[in-house]
Amino acid sequence: MKICIHRGTDCIGGCVTQLATETTRILIDFGEQLPEAPKKPLTVDALDEIDAVFFTHYHGDHIGLLEELPPHIPVYLGETASEIYRHHAARLHLHGADRLRSLRALEPVQVGDMTILPIPADHSAYDAFMYLVTAGGKSVLHTGDFRLHGFRGKATWKLLAKYAPQVDLLICEGTKIQGARGHSEWEVQQDLKQVIAQHKYVFILCSSTNIDRLASIYHVVPQGRYFLCDAYQKDILQSVEAQAFSPWYRFPKALTPGENLKLRERGFVMAVRANRDFAKWMEQFPDSVLVYSMWPGYLDGRAPTIEAFVRHHAESGRMIHLHASGHAPGEDLLELCKRVSPKLGVLPIHTQWPQAFPNGICLKDGETLTI
Ligand SMILES: [Zn+2]
Ligand SMILES: [Zn+2]
Repeated sequence: MKICIHRGTDCIGGCVTQLATETTRILIDFGEQLPEAPKKPLTVDALDEIDAVFFTHYHGDHIGLLEELPPHIPVYLGETASEIYRHHAARLHLHGADRLRSLRALEPVQVGDMTILPIPADHSAYDAFMYLVTAGGKSVLHTGDFRLHGFRGKATWKLLAKYAPQVDLLICEGTKIQGARGHSEWEVQQDLKQVIAQHKYVFILCSSTNIDRLASIYHVVPQGRYFLCDAYQKDILQSVEAQAFSPWYRFPKALTPGENLKLRERGFVMAVRANRDFAKWMEQFPDSVLVYSMWPGYLDGRAPTIEAFVRHHAESGRMIHLHASGHAPGEDLLELCKRVSPKLGVLPIHTQWPQAFPNGICLKDGETLTI
């Protein structure tokens, strides 16, 4: 098998991995670069001859260039992830979501002489996958973005022990290879519970596609208090619910704010995005608190819309930061490398510090590794 990282050997986001045999060529992810990343051109030879593209998850830095893939190339994403992405794409007028073919966890797909097995990954995107690619007696595990400190992280060791016990090569994300352990999703939920117990009107700014966070919030809203979101968010939650494998991902009491609700009397927790409609709701409740539940980096001058949206609460001391990263810290990344113990080594991607992986195989973008 020949492996080439077209982009992503030394940057976070915009990753494109190619795996090829004599007769078959696939890509894993075809993402857009993050806005602040130094521009790196993407060149994929004979792009229209690619046999299939597999997306690990629906974040823009992995699926963002979907529109640029020639329409005859089959593209795959998790079944529920595809539904979520369709809502997101419709809102932002992105094209190509209709062509996504659905994958189910642990149901392999054959493309030419390659077998691709989607293995569930815990990430801040729902229904994300690692991929185990096997061909000609060789196997490669591609982690995509992942973490172990979410609600589904504990399943990772069992899944890998069972489905990827002996891989030749591990392609591992390294976003936080230099990063220390932060809050777990469970800790965020415990903190949220306290905030909600102490405040009657709570707005929470979080990604509409971070389903695990939304589930965390939903399940700590006490009896009698409303859980509110807008129609767009509700559509997403209903898509998740339709294919939910556990009651944790059901949201039967999620409401959109209507005229007949007794908001002042009963209190509420409302999932919001940085837009005018939600800003108006927040103005109506000056005594509310705002929980900022996203990457803190957005408040460092990168996202003026978000900064403007939170300003009032931030300046009046009514904003609370509660967040867990979607990425594994260094110690968990190294533990994964140790447990997977690939025969040939670890190829770091989606990182600014590939050298921080001990004995990592550090390729440059566009270089080919033959295994
Ligand atoms: Zn990413
Ligand atoms: Zn991601």
